This record gives sequence, structure tokens and C-alpha cells, in this order.
Amino acid sequence: MSEKMEFQTEVRDLLHLMVHSLYSNKEIFLRELVSNAADALDKLRFLSIANSSLLPAGTELRIDISANDSTKILTIEDNGIGMNKEDLIQNLGTIARSGTKNFMQSITGDAKRDVNLIGQFGVGFYSAFMVASKLEVHSRKAGEEQGFQWVSEGTGDFSIDELPKEKNGTKITIYLKDEDDCRDFSQDWRVKNVVRKYSEFVTHPIYIHSLDKDNNENVERLNEKPAIWRQSAKDLEEKQYKEFYELVSHEGGEPLAWSHNHVEGTQEYWSLLYIPARAPFGVRYASEHSHGLKLYVKRVFIMDDCKELLPNWLRFARGVIDTEDLPLNVSREILQSNKIVANLKKHAIKKILDTLQSVATDRKEDYAKFWIEMGAVLKEGFYMNWEFLDELKNLLRFKSTKTSEKEFVGLEEYVARMPESQKEIYYIIGESLSAVQGSPHLEACKAKGYEVLFLTDAVDEFMMQSLKEFKDKKFHDLALGDLEFEKSKEEENAESENKKTYEKLCEALQKVLSENVSEVRVTSRLKDSPCMLVRAAGGMGAHMEKLMSLQGMEVPKTKRILEINPEHEICKNLLKKAEANEDLGSYPAVLYGQSLLAEGSVLPDPAAFVSAMNKILLSK
Ligand code: ADP
Repeated sequence: MSEKMEFQTEVRDLLHLMVHSLYSNKEIFLRELVSNAADALDKLRFLSIANSSLLPAGTELRIDISANDSTKILTIEDNGIGMNKEDLIQNLGTIARSGTKNFMQSITGDAKRDVNLIGQFGVGFYSAFMVASKLEVHSRKAGEEQGFQWVSEGTGDFSIDELPKEKNGTKITIYLKDEDDCRDFSQDWRVKNVVRKYSEFVTHPIYIHSLDKDNNENVERLNEKPAIWRQSAKDLEEKQYKEFYELVSHEGGEPLAWSHNHVEGTQEYWSLLYIPARAPFGVRYASEHSHGLKLYVKRVFIMDDCKELLPNWLRFARGVIDTEDLPLNVSREILQSNKIVANLKKHAIKKILDTLQSVATDRKEDYAKFWIEMGAVLKEGFYMNWEFLDELKNLLRFKSTKTSEKEFVGLEEYVARMPESQKEIYYIIGESLSAVQGSPHLEACKAKGYEVLFLTDAVDEFMMQSLKEFKDKKFHDLALGDLEFEKSKEEENAESENKKTYEKLCEALQKVLSENVSEVRVTSRLKDSPCMLVRAAGGMGAHMEKLMSLQGMEVPKTKRILEINPEHEICKNLLKKAEANEDLGSYPAVLYGQSLLAEGSVLPDPAAFVSAMNKILLSK
């Protein structure tokens, strides 16, 4: 006997909204129904542990889908726990479950926003009404004899009939609406696509039944691939990890390393994180990049490129995180402010950094290759995060005055090989290796045998603003004019002598160059070059100025200090001229110009420089 019942008010409102809102992502109904079926199978398996008669030996727990293009009917069937009459009424009808209530309370009246809310609350079953003009749920509870059928058109009411069913489980029959984006689901290719997308790693087998043109039924299993991240690492071979990498990365090639984890405790999740051996396409330059992690909830695919799980500076990583603790319908908005997600992100960062560290320690050559391709991306971590600075410092690699062509040096190694007299870590920033390698700023350190790190990535200026020290050794920019080494008494005497001797030349140069430099002074730090430009502490570096002006920003003009080398023949000659009160002619302009060139800066007026230089070349 058929029994008609009213939907509970809130359910009715919900259904109305579901049906009448333009839902852009209708296909998710299939994910919801498959996931409900998988839950029902899990529940039965669980109950059968205590009561083995519920699951006779040899039964395959499975999900069967069939799409019929001629009748426009789609069915999804499972042989799981099933529902009796009370369950059907409770679960699919009258009792507003907490999700429904919360959902309705969150409704704002703005259709566009409200539609997005659907996904946030556990109201999955009803989403079938987005594509269905009528739904039948035929179910028999495991361990009970009687079957029941629930039928509704998604309006005010539903009916329940007794209807014998041969096996336990639930069969949902969807009469597809006569609209393009609903009818589609009667075609097996469409169903296959969606199931493969969302439910590829559901543990229970999902079969699709379709009819060929001679009306023979074909059965195909849709989810062959095991969710390898849920398996124990000891059961997996390297080959399987590599195969799975191809699947998640879509890049092909081999991973550099991976980290496979299962965490239990207040939260339970699995992660399988890969570091690619080669930079994924566009990763280095794109600022609006894709993030490589996929989020799964209870083995069900939720989203690709989940940026909430990974900071920008780890955007080269690939892999999967699968959590038990989020709702299937989790939305982007929820992800952004969710404690569970924040915890997953922290886990991912930590594991990726740990993995990189072990590659850096055990496989130096491989790490060098990684560093060339992705080091600059990792460096962004220095100004975008504060929590993992120590780990990041240990991962840094540099070219230096002491590395050979293929080598890099890390900070640990740098500090270990510092001569005893060296107190700080020296570096120089510039546009390219060739620009910094010839810089006059290196001369003092070279003479002392101190190693100098070369920083030539665009991010380095920014990085150095948060990289202040390593193991109590301060970083020192050689472009600053404050480098002081310990000096012997003789050296000190010679210096103050030079200062006096050169006073006149310094004054004369300063007078001519006053527009460009704040001071001219003698230095003992130059060995081969006649002069260089240094900046006072706090002033902006030449490279930074260039970066800013490249970005069209206004660069505050800070004058630098011109330091001259009293031991250089050019300076000695000029000193004579100054002492004889002779005109210095083109010399000041050429000295200033060559200081800019030597550090890799751009000449403000190349033509003027060339003409000044030609005057000197022509003079006898
Ligand atoms: P949720 O799955 O988030 O609880 P749904 O609206 O999708 O919300 O489903 C409501 C309830 O109906 C489920 O919690 C479950 O008890 C029951 N149910 C749905 N589908 C099935 C099924 N295939 N087999 C058994 N029970 C089901």
C-alpha cells in the first residue's frame, strides 16, 4: 500500500532551491551518490565483522551504474547496508538533518551565493534533483526481508511502498530531466568521465553497464587504480610510486623524491607528496601558477591544484592528500579558514622540506639539478613565511668565488670552511654570474682568501632582507662601504697616511662628481681596480634600484660613495694633477662610469661616457 508523506519544510525549501537555481556544476550529484553507495558498502562490511551472516562469504561489495540512452534513465546500485522504511523516511524525507538546517539558515536570498552554499552542507542525496524529474530509491536493509521503494518528484512530497527486493542494498533510479545538461547523463561516456574524475580511487569496484548496438550488455570496471597512498609503504615498490607520479603530475618523467605518510591521532590523513626532477612547465615564472596537490576526502576526489594545501613557494610539488576529517562537500571558502586544512598544509610543507633535505644530504648531484631548476622558487619562501626559515636556510645553495662550474655551496659548508679570521658571511648581488664575478667589490675578500657568495636571482634582494644570519654569523653585502677587516699596526698607519696624501684628490673629484656621489674617499679594500661605488648602510642596493625601475616604480635617488685605490697607477697620476692644481678633465667622469660598468649597472648617459673616454684616449 502506497503511503504519501510530506517533506519536512526545510527539506522542501532546500529542494526548491536546488531545482530552481542555476547550478553550474550539476555533475557532482554523481559523486555524491557514488560516495553514499561506497559508505553503505563500508557500513555493511563493518557490521559483518560482528555478524558474519550479513555478508556471505564470496560476496563482492560493488557499485553498479547503468546509463540508458533510449529511456533516459540512469541507475546507481549498491549491495551495501540498505535502508528499511524508517531509514528511508528519516534519511530522505521528513527529518531535517543538521546539514539541511544549517544550510537553510545560511541562505541569504542572493541566488548566486546560495547556490555555492549547497556544496558546504551534507545535503548530497538531494543534489540528484538537479538532474532528475523523478527519483526512485529501492532498498532492502541487510538482515531484513522486506524491500521498500521511495519515490519523489522533488516537490512537496514523496511516497513509500513495500516492494520486494531480491538482495540487500540500494538501487537509485534517476529519470533524467529533458534538458541538455541533464539528458547527457544517460550516455555512458559522460558518466564514465565524471566517475573517473571523482571516484577513481574509491576502494569498492564501480562497474558501468552499457548496451551496444546489438543490445548486448557490456560491463566495464571504471576504477582500476588502487589508491596507493592508502596502502602501506612496505607493500609498495618503487615502480608503483613512479607510475602513480605520472598519473598525478601529468608531466611524465621521473620524480626526484617522494614522501608517503599516514597520520593518525586527532586527525587522520594520508599524503603522498612528490618533488619533480624537472621543473613543471611554467613553474618558475608564473605568478598565477597552479598548485600541484589534489585534495581527496575519504578517497573521493575533491579538487585539483588545491592552493590552500601548499604555499606558493612550494608550487613545484605534486601529489595527493586524503583526509577523513572534512565533509565531502567542502567548499573553497571553508578551505580557506579551516583548522584541519591549516594542519594539512603544515604537514605538507614539513614533509616536502624534509624530503628535500634528505636529497640535499644524500644525493648532492641530484639536488644541484633540482636547485638550478627550482631553487629560485624555493627562495620565495624567505619572504612569504616565517615558520620554516631554519629548514629553508639549510636548503639554500650558491655559486661562489670558490665553487667550480658544476658545484654549489650550502651555508653549512660555507661556514665550515671559513678561515678562522673570517667573522661574517660575504655575498654580492648582481644580475648575472659574469657581472658579479668581475666586480671590484670582491677584491678585498679575494685577497684575504674569504669566500663570497654570488646572488643572481631576481628574488635574492628580497630574500636577503629576511636572511640576516646563519649559525650566529651575520650576512654582509659587499656593496656596502662598511667592510672592515682586522688590520696590523703598519696597515693602519699606511691607511691614515694615504688618507692625508689623497685628501686633495678626493676633494677635487667630489667637486666634479657632486651630482652623483655623496663622498669620495680612499679605501684599502681594492687591489686591482682603481675605484668602486659603495653604499652607506641602509641605502638601496644597485640591483634593487634596477629591479624597481624595471617594474616602473619610482626609485629614490640615493647617492653612493666613490672609493679610490691609492695603490693604483691611475689614482697616483691623478693625485699628481690635483696637487699641481691641474684640471682633472674627463678623468672623474670615466672613473665614475667604469665603477658603474664594473658592478653591472647601467650607465645613465653612455654617449657622454664614451666621449669622456675618447678624450683620454686622444690625450698624450
Ligand atoms: P550524507 O551522505 O552527507 O549523510 P545524503 O543526503 O547524501 O547525506 O544522504 C542521507 C542519508 O541517506 C545518508 O546519511 C545515509 O544514511 C542514507 N543513504 C543515502 N544513500 C544511501 C545508500 N546508497 N545506501 C544506504 N543509505 C544511504
